Amino acid sequence: MNFADSEILASILTADGYTPIDDYKKADLILVNTCSIRDHAEQRVFNRLNEFSSLKKRSPHVKIGIVGCMAERLKEHLLEEQLQVDLVAGPDAYRSLPLLLAQVEDGQKGINTILSESETYDDIKPVKTDTNGVTAFISIMRGCENFCAYCVVPYTRGKERSRNAETIIDEARLLFEQGYREITLLGQNVNSYKCGTVGFPQLIAQVAEINSQLRVRFATSHPKDISDELLTVIAQYDNVCKSIHLPVQSGSDATLQKMNRKYTRQWYLNRIEAIKRIIPDCTISTDIIAGFCGETEKDHNDTLTLMREVGYSSAFMFKYSERPDTFAAENYKDDVPEEIKLRRLNEIINLQRELSLASNEKETGLIREILIEGVSRRNLLQSYGRTSQNKVVVFDNPAQIKAGVYANVKILRCTPATLIGELTQSRAHR
Ligand code: SF4
Repeated sequence: MNFADSEILASILTADGYTPIDDYKKADLILVNTCSIRDHAEQRVFNRLNEFSSLKKRSPHVKIGIVGCMAERLKEHLLEEQLQVDLVAGPDAYRSLPLLLAQVEDGQKGINTILSESETYDDIKPVKTDTNGVTAFISIMRGCENFCAYCVVPYTRGKERSRNAETIIDEARLLFEQGYREITLLGQNVNSYKCGTVGFPQLIAQVAEINSQLRVRFATSHPKDISDELLTVIAQYDNVCKSIHLPVQSGSDATLQKMNRKYTRQWYLNRIEAIKRIIPDCTISTDIIAGFCGETEKDHNDTLTLMREVGYSSAFMFKYSERPDTFAAENYKDDVPEEIKLRRLNEIINLQRELSLASNEKETGLIREILIEGVSRRNLLQSYGRTSQNKVVVFDNPAQIKAGVYANVKILRCTPATLIGELTQSRAHR
């Protein structure tokens, strides 16, 4: 989401006469687009601010702004003198940046952290600043009202609202015309997208119909809302990618209830069964939190057994980190000792490594269509691309077939993270 938001920021500032540059040391204005989801993310921002304030000592004209979720959460506290921050803007305040910058030019501090019930930036054409020219994000909704007990997002990003469908289709069409071949539709809970009569299944079908050469992905789905109707649309269109990210967070009913996730283990497993039945070739990835408040050894084991039952292809795995002002912080004790959290997280990571390898081993011997995304960083004679199932494939590319081209590769071997393949055929069109 922040990546997509940075493109909106770049668009607003470009219209105000700024030009994005790669090297922050040469910038007149540095905006740090922040995340509050974990304490670690915020600490990294404070470390960066130290770096920027020494730059500011050398070049006092440089202006520093904090935008995004941390700006929303900490507000004027970020303007304390030692941080050397000039401007603070929450996720719904980006249109006011030119005004805030004018205030900063006048020697004041600029701050706007008002959340909106309607802002979707739908008329703003994002400026792509850091792109491979092949894959792009489109933000389709903002905010979240699920109020999972551990999560700060409903407080920092406000009410859920969907962007106008026509502007999404127009943006996707334009990106395709510019040469992009894969779009990821983004939102905190894309399954509850609604614009008039257009729900998420209809929206994804409309984007897929722009051109069969345009791949469509989406993130993230809340398990409580993933419908058979959506799964049927994914199965129907070849260019809607066969990979679903379905965050489970825990395999224990007691923990899920405390987390306010609004589904049970069995309900989640029924949804997994529906995915496997309707889209047999689909990979499933997830998010898992280790050591949530009150988590017992049995709860943790329930997570491990669920992971095995689903057979996730990959996962984002974290230790629980208490976030101020959330329901969990106000009502539960963060009572799982650090060393137990860490041990459980390691068990989860080790198991996932095993599952990822097993998932990748199933691919060996198959011929898969990939979309080439670029040259491998480790070996310039190799390229990499992604399968519809969201697996990265590295392959020798002596003919230097370019990014943005579809190619067939035979999968020869694998690691838990990567498939290694050989090119069998490439083509610019499906
Ligand atoms: S669905 Fe839950 S975890 Fe995801 S953004 Fe909303 S509140 Fe946070």
